[in-house]
Amino acid sequence: MRGPVNGPGNDEIPEAPGLTEYASGASPAPVTGATQVTSDPPAPGHLLFRSPMCPCENVRVDALACPCGLGDDYASCCGRLHAGAPAPTAESLMRSRYSAFAVGDAGYLLRTWHPSARPRTLSLDPARRWTRLAILETRDGGLFDATGTVQFRAMYLQQGQRGVLAETSRFVRQDRHWTYLGPID
Ligand SMILES: [Zn+2]
Repeated sequence: MRGPVNGPGNDEIPEAPGLTEYASGASPAPVTGATQVTSDPPAPGHLLFRSPMCPCENVRVDALACPCGLGDDYASCCGRLHAGAPAPTAESLMRSRYSAFAVGDAGYLLRTWHPSARPRTLSLDPARRWTRLAILETRDGGLFDATGTVQFRAMYLQQGQRGVLAETSRFVRQDRHWTYLGPID
């Protein structure tokens, strides 16, 4: 996923063709089945990652649910990938990149961007709270593939407004590491 592209310091990042942001209340492309996005409450564990401790100071963030929504705790889910473990599939890289947006790990986002498409810098908007990821469709991107696509919707809250980032992302495996190439045009 590409994330916000129009904040200060992001001038170098070209506008993403194929990336569509919907304001809250707009009607995005139809979604069917169990992945339909409704006004679910935010997933737990989404705002916490500025420090290793939850704001309540009773639990380490690593022990909280991973933002990607798979159900594991952050440390044993996307936290492992953020710490350097390779993503086994394109979808797992997609999830870990979403989680990197949620925890504010711009370095991971840059490292996992394909060199041909990687922006020189990336600044994340701390006012945008990523609240939920829905993977709609995955094509290829498996253990024995060299390319893959993942269609997703990423929900966020910003200044009290709900928003959705929708994209079908292309991934390429370079050496043994999946990288994000960009949205499908
Ligand atoms: Zn995760």
